[in-house]
Amino acid sequence: STAPLGNTVIPIVNRLQDIFAQLGSQSTIELPQVAVVGSQSSGKSSVLEALVGRDFLPRGSEICTRRPLVLQLLQTKRNPDGTDEEYGEFLHLPGKRFYDFSEIRREIQAETDREAGGNKGVSDKQIRLKIFSPNVLDITLVDLPGITKVPVGDQPSDIEARIRTMIMSYIKVPSCLILAVTPANSDLANSDALQIAGNADPDGLRTIGVITKLDIMDRGTDARNLLLGKVIPLRLGYIAVVNRSQEDIILNRSIKDALVAEEKFFRSRPVYNGLAECCGVPQLAKKLNQILVQHIMAVLPGLKSRISSALVSVAKEHASYGEITESKAGQGALLLNILSKFSEAFASMVEGKNEEMSTS
Ligand code: GDP
Ligand code: MG
Repeated sequence: STAPLGNTVIPIVNRLQDIFAQLGSQSTIELPQVAVVGSQSSGKSSVLEALVGRDFLPRGSEICTRRPLVLQLLQTKRNPDGTDEEYGEFLHLPGKRFYDFSEIRREIQAETDREAGGNKGVSDKQIRLKIFSPNVLDITLVDLPGITKVPVGDQPSDIEARIRTMIMSYIKVPSCLILAVTPANSDLANSDALQIAGNADPDGLRTIGVITKLDIMDRGTDARNLLLGKVIPLRLGYIAVVNRSQEDIILNRSIKDALVAEEKFFRSRPVYNGLAECCGVPQLAKKLNQILVQHIMAVLPGLKSRISSALVSVAKEHASYGEITESKAGQGALLLNILSKFSEAFASMVEGKNEEMSTS
């Protein structure tokens, strides 16, 4: 099964990749990075894991993410016999393949300790992890330490400023998509996530609000107004999610079970009826997928002109040989035609005419 993040985008990107491969050039569709920001224990790592659909990130009620984790998802070719293997590889352990994802988590923890010590220290030195799988989109996700105010353990007195600087260095990049994570059981007006995302992206063009922990809101309260943007409006809107609790982690509850429980949660609460598009990890993935498709749309004209100029130079080359061949130039024109058709299909997709694109 495909990870929630990417299910609509993978066929499109693959098809484009094929087109470029036929022309003998590498695809140049670089998708934007996605970073999670927010205060400590708001559920950032949980949200990323749910999007990837695998258990491998350290999560917990204390500070867990203490170094930036740059997670590169890389799509591998599917084995015809169905023996697909997913594995991870760390930059600091080249050549070592981790097939067991709980071992990946242990290595993240060990490597965190190596650099940042065992006593809650934080470091801005990245951990770089690649996940190879036929089920993912080629995209980079960044898990970041959360904003904390009071130094604990080995943390320096200026820990808050240091973490803010670290976070900003990632999210100030104009192409970075920001998932601003705020727990539902805290006051949105005091959200560290929205505050720092607002500094990096004042117009809110690349910030998605993610509200976690709806299951542990104060009795008698709900997140309806918040999701409707009535508390703090956000251009790209909010998505509410229910991730696994600390107890679920201790009981080793699977991501799959958690997704089922999440669905049941929203279905059983009338207050969220009519807000289905804002509720659940699959909706968050969908929103991200739509943004990625729009991104692809935006870079297509550039890709087309690259193909065009490649064609012109091929034609010139042929002319210089003094012979006319069908082969490459003709093929190129054909591919350009296919690509143009694709752009039209994207356009209608973005307008919501057809959600799923045919891969045939
Ligand atoms: P991070 O510090 O922002 O990366 O947060 P984590 O993902 O490590 O989660 C912090 C703690 O909150 C963990 O104990 C999670 O199990 C718990 N948690 C995260 N999301 C939810 C949620 O939606 N509901 C509940 N009940 N607990 C959650
Ligand atoms: Mg974390």
